[in-house]
Amino acid sequence: RGTVVLAATPIGNVGDASARLVALLQDADIVAAEDTRRLYDLANRLGVHVNGSVVAYHDHNERNKADGLLDRVEEGATVLVVSDAGMPTINDPGLAIVRRAIERGLPVTCAPGPSAVLDALALSGLPTDRFCYEGFMPRKHAERVQHLRMLQAERRTIVFYETPHRIADAMDDLLDAFGPDRPMALCRELTKDYEEIRRGTVGTIHQGVVDDPPRGEMVLVIGGASDEEAQAAAPATLSVEELAVL
Ligand code: SAM
Repeated sequence: RGTVVLAATPIGNVGDASARLVALLQDADIVAAEDTRRLYDLANRLGVHVNGSVVAYHDHNERNKADGLLDRVEEGATVLVVSDAGMPTINDPGLAIVRRAIERGLPVTCAPGPSAVLDALALSGLPTDRFCYEGFMPRKHAERVQHLRMLQAERRTIVFYETPHRIADAMDDLLDAFGPDRPMALCRELTKDYEEIRRGTVGTIHQGVVDDPPRGEMVLVIGGASDEEAQAAAPATLSVEELAVL
């Protein structure tokens, strides 16, 4: 039997590719990549020749593709799973093959490496002993408000992924939900030449986003609720009246 290997890829700085990733790209029998063009681009930049076959493995086909790839693992193949950047399965494809491998009793392992969530958390200066990863906020305003309401009493440091075209709306809703005083960091273009960490409070970061809209990829890190904030938090569910005005 072979193995499924999830491998993290750089989130901006190609120098973050691990020696293990390089060896796997060279030696895996099959590379299942979120975007095959980006995979070849990474391989070129690393000076690696991908000897195995490369297949597209993305959000839209991962459930259908997982079993076929696992059939090959059963026959002895090493199947390397990579996403466009960072750790597969973290807001990226990969979970379907992990689940099916577990169900079928096939080996699955990981070559860990860069992921924006831990990079941002570590640089934020906020408590790291307990945190919750929230991925992307819901896109629709009403759902976002409802979701943030649920998080008002959360005591752990909260990490969100965000995009430049939604950051202004997201900051408005974060200010409404958490008030201006919660400590916060906006971590942008991590590991790249223009890496920038804006540290302050929800209020100061909100103002900064208005004055100087951040571009590129970004992660938002927000301090958890204090005892008083947790106690004062509004009920987690919006009333019918509140929903009506959103
Ligand atoms: N699998 C990836 C990981 O492990 O971090 C996440 C993929 S998700 C589709 C893309 C989001 O990750 C971006 O919108 C941004 O929030 C965050 N991200 C990825 N690279 C980043 C970087 N270099 N700097 C800041 N945020 C980044």
